[in-house]
Amino acid sequence: MFAFQNPHPNLIAALESGGYRVTAPRRAIANLLEQKQEGFSVEALSDELPSVGRATVYRTIKLFHAAGVVCKLATINGSHMYSLCRNDHHHHHTVCVECGAVEEFRVDAVERLIRQISEDIPGEIVSHHLELYVNCGACPETKGK
Ligand SMILES: [Zn+2]
Ligand SMILES: [Zn+2]
Ligand SMILES: [Zn+2]
Repeated sequence: MFAFQNPHPNLIAALESGGYRVTAPRRAIANLLEQKQEGFSVEALSDELPSVGRATVYRTIKLFHAAGVVCKLATINGSHMYSLCRNDHHHHHTVCVECGAVEEFRVDAVERLIRQISEDIPGEIVSHHLELYVNCGACPETKGK
């Protein structure tokens, strides 16, 4: 089991190295994101940034996702959310069902298992996602559970 504890990605640097212009709205979104430990939806983010249009928030998050600094994951009810990506390599996420905190991890046994499954199912596995929904134990709602 390997949990990633890297600092947050540098969102502005990712824009610059991807050849994207660092506009004022993009900078505002990056500044807000850099404080986020929890997963977020585009809608919630947009509500926190009334000065930036929702379409711009949406496009910017897609851009961060394409640049590899934001991960896209499923919520427990199947809608999508995003979280800051803290490492460049293949990994999975835990999501606290109470506070929304997102952590990243990689477990070799899981990767081995999926390779093994691929021998038993038709077709070729080209990708996979795995989110584990947890009570994080660190937020007030889950302390002592
Ligand atoms: Zn991630
Ligand atoms: Zn929590
Ligand atoms: Zn995996």
